[in-house]
Amino acid sequence: MRIIDPHMHMVSRSAEDYRRARRAGVECCIEPAFWSGQDKRNAGSFFDYFEQIIDHETDRAERAANMDHYVTIGLEPKEANYRDMAEDVLDRIPEYLERDPVVGVGEIGFDQVTDDEEWAFRRQLEIADDRELPVIIHTPHTDKPSGTERIVEIVEEMGVTQERIIIDHNTENTIDISTRTDCWIGFTLYPGKIETGSAIDLLEEYGTDNMIFNSAADWDPSDPLAVPKARDEMLDRGWDREDVRKVVFENPYEFFDQSPNFDYEA
Ligand SMILES: [Zn+2]
Repeated sequence: MRIIDPHMHMVSRSAEDYRRARRAGVECCIEPAFWSGQDKRNAGSFFDYFEQIIDHETDRAERAANMDHYVTIGLEPKEANYRDMAEDVLDRIPEYLERDPVVGVGEIGFDQVTDDEEWAFRRQLEIADDRELPVIIHTPHTDKPSGTERIVEIVEEMGVTQERIIIDHNTENTIDISTRTDCWIGFTLYPGKIETGSAIDLLEEYGTDNMIFNSAADWDPSDPLAVPKARDEMLDRGWDREDVRKVVFENPYEFFDQSPNFDYEA
């Protein structure tokens, strides 16, 4: 059963990781722009990073594993706190959204829920909504429920199209907040975020509509095979194949198919 993993930071992964993921069924992945483990202090560093994930990673995915690789571009919340730099970065985000493999805006959202983070979040939600592009929203690690509440309040207050938004990194403590909206609900199967078994339990309770699994696959102890392993665990639990396929393939496909640049053949 083929898989779309809608959130993989493959820039921090090896060619062998691309191959292992592809062999396990991941035919297509989306790489959101994010924090690189250390704060960038120059706007130019962002533009080089955007070029790297747009060009080099898309090529590398193809060369290493014949995998379709798409990108979302955004200023992540931690670095929004360097306001002067952040303004320079946001001014140029729209030009990157025109590039071929770019299928949306993200990751945007909150880290410490500061005023500067809120400013960057609102401005990027507007940029995405004006262009009718999908958005990946990062929920904070600390005090996640109240950060998620704040995200939902802003999304509702701005009146942006909720069907084009994923609220990501949900847990048992945020799902009731996120499911109040018409946004898509992401679960990052990652140590310290949510265990695979717990995420599957939540889908058994809340259903599979709008539910999306991803691996993050970043430089920390994440697993680029997390979604294939979740697929196998759902099948082992006796889930209907069509329901599994909806979570690991059709939902992310339908979400990103809202972008004119997403041309993966289903
Ligand atoms: Zn991420």
